[in-house]
Amino acid sequence: MSAPRTDSTVWASIDAEARRQEAQLELIASENHASLEVIAAMGTVLTNKYAEGYPGRRYYGGCEYVDEVETIARDRVKELFGSERANVQPHSGTQATIGALMAMAEPGDDILAMSLDHGGHLSHGHPKNASGVFYKFHHYGVRRDDERLDIDQVRTMAQDLRPKVIVAGGSAYPRTIDFAPLAEIAREVGAKLLVDMAHIAGLVATGAHPSPVPHADVVSSSTHKTLRGPRGGLILSTKDFGKQVNSAVFPGGQGGPLMHVIAAKAIAFREAASAEFKTYIDQVLSNARILAETLGERGLRIVSGGTDNHLLLVDVSSVGLTGDVAEDALHAVDLTCNKNLIPFDAQPPMKTSGVRLGTAAITTRGLGGEDVRRMAHWIADVLDAPEDAGIRARVKAEVAELAVARPIYPTAAV
Ligand SMILES: *Cc1c(COP(=O)(O)O)cnc(C)c1O
Repeated sequence: MSAPRTDSTVWASIDAEARRQEAQLELIASENHASLEVIAAMGTVLTNKYAEGYPGRRYYGGCEYVDEVETIARDRVKELFGSERANVQPHSGTQATIGALMAMAEPGDDILAMSLDHGGHLSHGHPKNASGVFYKFHHYGVRRDDERLDIDQVRTMAQDLRPKVIVAGGSAYPRTIDFAPLAEIAREVGAKLLVDMAHIAGLVATGAHPSPVPHADVVSSSTHKTLRGPRGGLILSTKDFGKQVNSAVFPGGQGGPLMHVIAAKAIAFREAASAEFKTYIDQVLSNARILAETLGERGLRIVSGGTDNHLLLVDVSSVGLTGDVAEDALHAVDLTCNKNLIPFDAQPPMKTSGVRLGTAAITTRGLGGEDVRRMAHWIADVLDAPEDAGIRARVKAEVAELAVARPIYPTAAV
């Protein structure tokens, strides 16, 4: 179905966004470019259908085809990650994590998670997020010396608090997380383990990061980051938690599922199981390492000394900047990224000492190691002299040239 475009006001903004994505190199670590097939599924009549409930047990008639779609999505994601149960209805990663918490704990229960300023996520107990409103969160962090997850602190706090749930996973942690000792601590203190793999789901799908599924009671995720699906969430669990998870998502936190998005998730899960996707993820990791190494050679301090995954944190205080200034300077040359707190940051959250860079999106559009090395030098050039208009103009032109050489989508599609 090709749609009419009579609302020129809205379409003008949509078209401008498509041009922006093509023109800028996207280094925001949580973003990616979904395939046109994934995007096409979201623009279908499935959006019209109410399907409260689950396949075979709906509160509305006419669900035979959306039942097929949701069953395909569930079967594919269980196969992809090797889990016993799956729920593909969460509208977002935050909804997935909150659904998981509702399935595992009662309001007021103690929960132990990684602190936001050490790489956690707002759905892990930020006081203004539902997680922080309804549960009593306590936070562990990374060690000061090597900036890696402090497993001894997790153990001490867990023994002290005896929390109902231990949460692992984050949005700005550049190192491999070893889930086995976390599961062991949870067992020791009678807690359940929830892993939020939103950032690393694509890596887990191909085996480039160890899977949390054998260790965790429940795993939550978003679907649009390294997994490269539509914007949304999912929850995997053991069969012990299947029922609680389902009722926590619906009716617990949501009404009707977004069936057009679930169809797009099903397509993305198939893509993620392909050999091409494994090659893609390997390149994402290789690109992140090259970016970290090259920036390090140029005198920028990389938090924890490097990266094991798709993202890195650059401590821009090492060149006398704050994160907000660095973000603006890079944005001005069409390199999009975000300021980010670094562990033990001396700056407030609206300023920060860091920028977070990720390679998932640029790798989707085909940037290889040589491209990334050049781009790293452009980043260092700009951060060395953020006020220098000559350098900005030169780098912006080089970014534009590379962006044209590595289109995201065929021109006819956008
Ligand atoms: C991105 C992220 C989420 C939330 O995803 P949204 O879809 O934006 O709600 C949850 N947890 C972690 C660790 C994340 O990085």
